[in-house]
Amino acid sequence: MRKKFVAGNWKMNKTAEEARLLLNELIPALEPFSHVERAVCPPFPYLMMVRHMLEGTNIGMGAQNMHWEASGAFTGEVSPKMVAEFCQYVILGHSERRTYFGETDETVNRKVKSALSTGLTPIVCVGETLAENEAGKTAEVVWRQITEGLKDLLPEEGLKLVIAYEPVWAIGTGRAATAEVAQSVHANVVRPALAHLFGQEVAGQIRIQYGGSVTAKNAPELFAMPDIDGALVGGASLKAGEFAAIVQAAA
Ligand code: PEP
Repeated sequence: MRKKFVAGNWKMNKTAEEARLLLNELIPALEPFSHVERAVCPPFPYLMMVRHMLEGTNIGMGAQNMHWEASGAFTGEVSPKMVAEFCQYVILGHSERRTYFGETDETVNRKVKSALSTGLTPIVCVGETLAENEAGKTAEVVWRQITEGLKDLLPEEGLKLVIAYEPVWAIGTGRAATAEVAQSVHANVVRPALAHLFGQEVAGQIRIQYGGSVTAKNAPELFAMPDIDGALVGGASLKAGEFAAIVQAAA
């Protein structure tokens, strides 16, 4: 049985005060649903504050990115160890990182290895653009992102991963993939790619989140699908009531 996992990606949003207010509402709202793994992923400057606020809860926290190197002359970057001081998770290879900041399957691969060796759980994002989708290339793109992004990992490392299938055309557009389409990519592309790398048994244990315009309204249908093991939520994670309702739908 794969435990459902819902994570909120706040992206580059909220002031520190707004983050504090959101958490004041969110923590009690999420507390009852402990059989769902749940996490918030705030911007870097708020990690320490949010860590303090989550003290004594079983709500996890992730960063939205990190560098693969352990330390050194990398101005503006944050190391895996720095992230691991505060977080259990790290989002890697988000499509916004790939599109605006030049991330590639190769850099994602370096980051995944580095995150795992630092004890972090990577949430590895994959997904096709609208043009790739319309050209019928979804399977090809997602297969490549998984097999290249997770290259040279051992099956026991594979077990520690979370994958987020996030079609780029669905992110922030209000146009979520239907539950059937997401299920089909999870079952027919993502899990077979994981099985190709790690074997059937390990692939069967890896959580695959769906991401892209998830709301309280569409979450129940998505979570009813056998291979949708939770969600990576962007916009809807900025509202306590909406995010809590999404977590509740996974319960
Ligand atoms: C995301 O940023 O990972 C995401 C899925 O965003 P949204 O839910 O806003 O589409």
